[in-house]
Amino acid sequence: MSTNPRYSFFKGVERSFDKAAKFTRFPKGILNQIKECNSTLQVKFPVLINGKVEVFEAYRVQHSHHKLPCKGGVRFSKSVNQDEVMALAALMTYKCAIVNVPFGGGKGGIKIDPSIYSVADLERITRRYTFELCKKNFIGPGLDVPAPDYGTSSREMSWIVDTYSSLNPSDLNALGCVTGKPISQGGVRGRVEATGMGVFFGIREACSIKEDMAKLGLSTGIKGKAIIIQGLGNVGYHAAKYCQQAGAIIVGLIEYNGAIYKESGLDIDEVQAYRKRNGSLLNFPGATSFEDETKGLEQPCDILIPAALEAVIHKDNAHAIQAKIIGEAANGPLTPDADDILNKKGVLVIPDMYLNAGGVTVSYFEWLKNLSHVRYGRLEKRFTENRYSDIVSSLEALTNKNVGAIERRNILKGPEEIDLIHSGLEDTMMGSYHEIRDIYINTAGVEDMRTAAFICAINKIGVAYEELGIFP
Ligand code: GLU
Repeated sequence: MSTNPRYSFFKGVERSFDKAAKFTRFPKGILNQIKECNSTLQVKFPVLINGKVEVFEAYRVQHSHHKLPCKGGVRFSKSVNQDEVMALAALMTYKCAIVNVPFGGGKGGIKIDPSIYSVADLERITRRYTFELCKKNFIGPGLDVPAPDYGTSSREMSWIVDTYSSLNPSDLNALGCVTGKPISQGGVRGRVEATGMGVFFGIREACSIKEDMAKLGLSTGIKGKAIIIQGLGNVGYHAAKYCQQAGAIIVGLIEYNGAIYKESGLDIDEVQAYRKRNGSLLNFPGATSFEDETKGLEQPCDILIPAALEAVIHKDNAHAIQAKIIGEAANGPLTPDADDILNKKGVLVIPDMYLNAGGVTVSYFEWLKNLSHVRYGRLEKRFTENRYSDIVSSLEALTNKNVGAIERRNILKGPEEIDLIHSGLEDTMMGSYHEIRDIYINTAGVEDMRTAAFICAINKIGVAYEELGIFP
């Protein structure tokens, strides 16, 4: 993390916003309205833990109401504070705009170290937090829809949906009050891997552009690229897995308590199994270990993917980064100073608000599923299979040749929910990359992809505010 105790994450986001705002046509008033957090809820609530009352501090910030509901995760972490939640909520607004997901941004958090509480305690804390959100109108399918984030998963989301539903028994759309739920509670297939898979699609798209790769002195394509990943949580693990499957070489992995490096490549599943057995990556056979995990960021690679918390690359270590591409899977992993240093070095920084938008994209699909009360593929799967069967049979009759049994099965397969989710995500990540890149290459004076991403978001939100009209 940044060594500067006065580092304000929210101010950092504002600084990047201001840099981009100069390239847009909106007046100061509209820009200020876009920038500000619209509603901030801070609550302190008591929960009985082991027979004693403990008071918890928690937040929910709705950054923008230009579209409703507000959307964004809830994190459980010791470092949660108002500045952090505000910054993360703001990033959600820009993220949703970039990937054309019709939500305002929001974020929540409880200041807690979840590892020191029992599952039963965490359930009571989560349910009490949800109760506070309900009391203050900070949750609901049309108001504000939380999701998993750092330190939370589908388990917490199932407690949230159950609490909300109990308090709002007549809400037909209650399942849409939160996303990232287990499938049995109204979740959608493909949400767990969505953010990591989106990171992979985004990096693959960046690497597919010949002229951009040539500028960096790299070959086209993700195959053979040396990658270091920091953070092996849900996002980092899945990003690593899909990159490895596509032929990239995972040369380095970093966790909070140690890092490893191996030039010839590490197998992500072998390392993950080792880490689960030993509690750390250190001394993984055949790899060089670094007890000071920050050293892991500075090893040679083509692509560095920080996938944990904010401000891990800052003015004191940015100079030492050797990567030519940084894929921001985490929110805010670079401080603005680090951003300046890396841009000057010619590093291609693929910004967080685009690259990790796969999670919220699939959350949008989940929310739509909840509102439509029908599983994706249910209506068209059989119809499509029958249609393809007719086409194949006609071709066979016309050509007097038969398609093999395996080919026939592959051709006839109608789309399942997971197929539709993955293809919707792929299409979103590919399309949005080019929206941002077009701004980057066509706007005189824009020197980095983050500024282009902000311009892309500000243009869409600014128009929404203009069309919404502001009360006199
Ligand atoms: N927490 C994730 C993010 O920061 C997902 C948010 C969501 O799905 O609403 O993008």
